[in-house]
Amino acid sequence: MKDKNFLVSVVIPVYNEEQALPKLFPRLLPILEKYNYELIFVDDGSKDASVEIIKEKARSNPRIKLISFQRNFGHQMALTCGYDNCRGDCVITLDADLQDPPELIDKMIVKWQEGYDIVYGQRLDRQTDSFFKRTTADYFYKFMNYLSDVKIPEHVADFRLLDKKVVVFLKTLKERSRFLRGLVVWPGFRSTVVRYKREKRSAGTTHYSLRKMFAFAFEGIISFSTRPLQLATYLGFISAFLGFIGIVYAVIGKFVFSHYWVTGWTALFVSIMFMGGVQLIAIGIIGEYVGKIYKEVQQRPLYLIKEKVNFD
Ligand code: UDP
Ligand code: MG
Repeated sequence: MKDKNFLVSVVIPVYNEEQALPKLFPRLLPILEKYNYELIFVDDGSKDASVEIIKEKARSNPRIKLISFQRNFGHQMALTCGYDNCRGDCVITLDADLQDPPELIDKMIVKWQEGYDIVYGQRLDRQTDSFFKRTTADYFYKFMNYLSDVKIPEHVADFRLLDKKVVVFLKTLKERSRFLRGLVVWPGFRSTVVRYKREKRSAGTTHYSLRKMFAFAFEGIISFSTRPLQLATYLGFISAFLGFIGIVYAVIGKFVFSHYWVTGWTALFVSIMFMGGVQLIAIGIIGEYVGKIYKEVQQRPLYLIKEKVNFD
């Protein structure tokens, strides 16, 4: 059992959520009032009234804090900043759009007090997400877990509770690829799940377009596995093997069936296209990793803070 006066930090990334925020406060605050809490909003460069709404609330409640980014740095960076700036004995991250029900916070804290260092919110069913998003997400996690040594629990996103020691660990990581779902699993802390039904977005629309979703998936795979590089090698072997069969075929054809052997334009064309494709894939895979290395050596900051409210 933890000290009764423990501090709970709640971190909420916000990007253009002016419609969702007014619905969030009345549901979240009554739950938090039971605890000694701090509620940190990380504004990821919102262009609407989100910041004003939060500041308004923060004026009358010093437990509500705001960190504003200079520009949009992305969901994972906003979460990272929240982890860097919170002081809680445990930290809970959730979406601003009420897709992660705040009522689950109580259950998460109970599990934490039982001694778990990480409590994931696990979606029971995802009927509120589109069929496409559900199936691609399912296959992504299966594929990712197949490729990488770090096994990410399925159907969990960024709704989770972390003990202070996990946060301390995260702060030691200086890498730019912040695929937090993998990074929190990597050190092997004791973890459990609480199940919930994912709700519909309270207002507004998702910020994860198809393009962003795929970029996010690639980010995850590239930062947790070098298997795709091996894939390039395997592809090379397969194509070399097929090429060898082609050579045997061509030589036999030339000498054995020389009387009706035509110049074989199709075979040439097919093999050139095939080899070209395989080489491009291999170069592309290598390129992805080189790009990542480049970004790491540049050592640019992960995010830039414009202002902080209610931090002392
Ligand atoms: N978000 C952010 N920066 C971004 C995109 C999203 O801080 O560039 C926030 C957003 O305000 C929300 C959370 O991250 O609180 C999750 O985003 P969203 O609900 O759009 O994603 P989905 O739940 O559809 O996967
Ligand atoms: Mg959402």
